[in-house]
Amino acid sequence: MSGYNPPLDDIKFCIRHLSDIDSILSLDAFEGMEMADLEQVLEEAGKFARDVIAPTNVIGDQKGVSIDGNTVQVPAEIAALHAQYVENGWQSVSGNPEYDGMGLPSTIGNAVSEMVETGNLAYSLLPMLTSDAAIALEAHGTDDLKRKYLGKLVTGEWAGTMLLTEPQAGSDLAAIKARAVRDGDRFRISGTKIFITWGDHELSENIIHFVLARIEGAPEGVRGISMFLVPKFVVGDNGEVGERNDLRATSLEHKLGIHASPTAVMSFGDNDGAIGYLIGEEGKGLATMFTMMNHARLGVGQQGLAVSERAFQLARAYAHDRVQGRVPGQDGRAPIIHHADVRRMLMLMRSQIEAMRAVIYTAAAQVDLAHHAGSDDARAAAESRLSLLTPVVKGWCTEKSEEVTSLGIQVHGGMGYVEETGAAQHYRDARILPIYEGTNGIQAADLAGRKVLGDEGREIRKLIGELRETCAGMQGDEALAAIAASVNAALDQLERGVDWILANAMSDPAALGASSFNFLMLAGTVLGGALLAKGAAAAVADTGGTDAGFAKEKVATTAFYCTHVLPRAHGYLAAMTADPAITMALPAEAFLD
Ligand SMILES: Cc1cc2nc3c(=O)[nH]c(=O)nc-3n(C[C@H](O)[C@H](O)[C@H](O)COP(=O)(O)OP(=O)(O)OC[C@H]3O[C@@H](n4cnc5c(N)ncnc54)[C@H](O)[C@@H]3O)c2cc1C
Repeated sequence: MSGYNPPLDDIKFCIRHLSDIDSILSLDAFEGMEMADLEQVLEEAGKFARDVIAPTNVIGDQKGVSIDGNTVQVPAEIAALHAQYVENGWQSVSGNPEYDGMGLPSTIGNAVSEMVETGNLAYSLLPMLTSDAAIALEAHGTDDLKRKYLGKLVTGEWAGTMLLTEPQAGSDLAAIKARAVRDGDRFRISGTKIFITWGDHELSENIIHFVLARIEGAPEGVRGISMFLVPKFVVGDNGEVGERNDLRATSLEHKLGIHASPTAVMSFGDNDGAIGYLIGEEGKGLATMFTMMNHARLGVGQQGLAVSERAFQLARAYAHDRVQGRVPGQDGRAPIIHHADVRRMLMLMRSQIEAMRAVIYTAAAQVDLAHHAGSDDARAAAESRLSLLTPVVKGWCTEKSEEVTSLGIQVHGGMGYVEETGAAQHYRDARILPIYEGTNGIQAADLAGRKVLGDEGREIRKLIGELRETCAGMQGDEALAAIAASVNAALDQLERGVDWILANAMSDPAALGASSFNFLMLAGTVLGGALLAKGAAAAVADTGGTDAGFAKEKVATTAFYCTHVLPRAHGYLAAMTADPAITMALPAEAFLD
């Protein structure tokens, strides 16, 4: 039940055809790198995820974490795993070589992360947040702070966290109250932060917290928020870890899932105030934090893929083992995999997993291009595509993880509902994904409001146009032509959704809120199908050495998605374009007892 077999064929395929790794490797930043060498890295990461990480998943869930005074206790197996993870260099795969990183494309780091996340979702939050913290510090920190803190974040010797949430400030970060008082060229931070992932533990020598707080005298609202680096142990000029800072974990949450990840209430400034250093500009803290949050949103979307993959692998194995009923043409009782309804469930799982991977690896490539492409225009184009895809990756893939992990239970029948098969853990673990890192309601508002309405639909129309061109090239093969026809029809639906937002969002105050979630699902469903189809066409064309069996399965999976999943686009479009007054028909009082 702890088994995980990394799907390296599909990962490598997506890197070749959806991330277009050849274009990435042609950039100056990656000169001299060969895909064959990168594939070696992926093979080794796959082994580590399978042999070292995956076996800790159930143990971490069962043992959980605890707090003793102000010391957070994590299962010994997770501590041993983390030590090995850091020592083997997995944290630094795509880190900047100037700070001891390996400097591989972010697309490769992303693939390594997928396997780590599938191995143990709760643990994977620790390396994910550490790498997001390193990216934020590199982008916005002073040279002095980078010298003292960045190297050890890149290598993973120290851990990173993000601290936004307060009791009164969840989705609405404008309500943040944590305070920062000037103390020479640094600040003293005080306040309470809640729900802080890996907020404290003994697995790293130091923990570097990235905290949103309000400098004394700052205006109310978002414009008064700044971002600070607040170390657990203050680091001296010589780079040595020094005095314990004035911050502590006061309690841990008892949660539905991700039991191996400590979620802490953190108190800052019980005494003189925790020493903190401004990162980025004063009053621009939310924008600065968005560097970290955008990476984390991509990471959380990928966690949706990862936990779905694990649930799928468990379900397909069970479907081969479990014998129930008979099927025509077979003697005796049959394994349930032979029942068409079980196959329907497995195909729903598999096809949506592959669609998620297609979207995620398309987005991952944009991170490399946005940083390293050779011209300002190319970098801006990648940034714009990434910005559009980020809420789709976070919102749609995490919604899909709910469906896929639930199907994972259903395939197991009653054994899925009890804990010992492990199917229930994936369902419980997945449930946080649509909530943290900006709820999916907030992702939907971001997609419909900032990303589509905000640029008058230009980027999404550009993407739709490119996908139509892909469809136009799929006419030579009968199966591909049928897929292209379905995708084209779905792209029509998506275009109508975009038109509706542009026509209605400004004139009706409820229009955006009432339509945005269904628009997010429409966009994810259609883009997932179109990118899956792009992959199917590439597999058939066999440009990257894809073998015939793989291509056949990719086409079959895509055809299933087109017939069983893409038709949902009609429903999402109908719901999103319904009169918003229908959603708001009942007054708030009608929801009282
Ligand atoms: C296990 C776990 C780990 C976490 N880790 C971290 C962490 O490391 N760092 C950190 O800072 N935070 C963390 N969080 C906090 C998390 O990001 C917040 O819970 C999340 O952003 C939602 O905030 P909230 O819980 O206050 O919900 P609320 O903001 O109260 O939202 C409740 C509901 O109202 C909806 N809603 C709220 N405002 C709007 C609006 N304007 N428009 C439409 N709908 C709206 C939401 O979508 C949601 O459905 C974590 C939370 C959990 C449970």
